[in-house]
Amino acid sequence: MKKVLVYGLGLTGISAVKTLSLMGFEVFTYDANKEIVEELKDYTYSPISKDRAMSDSFEFVVKSPGIKPKDPLLIKLAEKNEIISDIELSYRLFPEKNIISITGTNGKTTTTSMITHILNESGIEAVAVGNIGQGILWQMYNKNCVFVEEISSFQLHDTVEYDTHIAAILNITEDHTDWHGSFDDYVNSKLKITQNQKATDFLIINHEDKILQAHKKDFRAQVYEFSTKNIVEKGMYLDGKDIIFTKNGKKIKVLSSDDLMIVGNHNIENAMVALLVCKLYGLDQESIVTHAKSFKAISHRLEYVKTIKEVDFYNDSKATNVDSALKAIASFDKNIILIAGGYNKNVDYRPLVEAFKEKSKAMILIGQTENTLAQLCEEMSIAYYIADDMDKAVKKAFEIMERGDTVLLSPASASWGVYKSYAQRGQDFIDKINKYELESL
Ligand code: ADP
Repeated sequence: MKKVLVYGLGLTGISAVKTLSLMGFEVFTYDANKEIVEELKDYTYSPISKDRAMSDSFEFVVKSPGIKPKDPLLIKLAEKNEIISDIELSYRLFPEKNIISITGTNGKTTTTSMITHILNESGIEAVAVGNIGQGILWQMYNKNCVFVEEISSFQLHDTVEYDTHIAAILNITEDHTDWHGSFDDYVNSKLKITQNQKATDFLIINHEDKILQAHKKDFRAQVYEFSTKNIVEKGMYLDGKDIIFTKNGKKIKVLSSDDLMIVGNHNIENAMVALLVCKLYGLDQESIVTHAKSFKAISHRLEYVKTIKEVDFYNDSKATNVDSALKAIASFDKNIILIAGGYNKNVDYRPLVEAFKEKSKAMILIGQTENTLAQLCEEMSIAYYIADDMDKAVKKAFEIMERGDTVLLSPASASWGVYKSYAQRGQDFIDKINKYELESL
């Protein structure tokens, strides 16, 4: 029996233990914080100590995406074992599965959800896998359908053979440097999605992304591009409001961006990728257009919450980095009351504060980064308030808001330290809006 180690028993680790044990591997596990996992009680595996993990040899080690490359145990394990991620393992165990792979700094969940929606509504069974739900391995073990994979740089970092027929890289901007150690390593990890592609495969890239453009000559797959700013040679672009598909000098209108139910320029980009993927998959134009039109925004991604006293409230808690918050700001014209800040990843907030200046009514600051943001607001003469927590932030927003304003939670920061997840932070925002709405009646 092949002896393997699963390092980290989070969502992906649990999914790996279940799958590997049922597929005949001898599974060992190590997690610094847990030994016995309730969900795994019916599966055969052996939790081992750190010392045993270091002294034994394994066919491979599947690591949880949260474990950083500089983790001392991982470095030790890598001396005698091959380290792989769950998506690498999914490819080795299930090479025949039908997959579509989406990566990028922002927009992955929106795009994978939209593709899955269009495929399912068109009668092709598809499931979105990645950060959502049960983990790729366990889903693949149980299902036979199209797997629309949302893939992070952490997962791509530990791939070797992973290969995909249709891939998309939405954008590459600064994020997760703390995990990768450098921006270069982050970029190189993202680009690994293309490493085994051949001339018969497809790669969709952002025409406006300088990093992707610089690497365009290295891609072996057939490249399709998308842009909302310029005409592209092959792919999708915007002509006024119309989304146009072009190839070999021919152009056809696919649909008007006004027909989409998701707001903001960045969502037009996500939609273009979804449309291109479905087209390359072979779906007919009519199905694609009909079902693209019925796709709605998912929670915490520039999600409209409600209107109170003619002020619109939007929850964009998933904006955990500067670029995503920039996109949220770009989606509104003026008078934004922005609630921002959170866990400190040591990123440069200057571009955010600069872009916010012309549309700002005020910034309300929360979390560890409040002083850094306050200093930038001070420098750029933007009104700001330090609120410390969500309750005080929403209370302040209610105090200063006037008819026609937009109150936007788009933190440009992770929620760690205060919340378990961005979803919990978004929910807290919604709860506090409801609380102060009631109090203001
Ligand atoms: P991901 O899964 O890559 O984190 P999401 O679809 O969950 O992406 O969106 C994350 C955040 O990024 C949200 O705040 C959303 O409004 C914003 N966003 C979505 N698409 C894009 C894009 N194409 N470019 C920049 N920001 C985006």
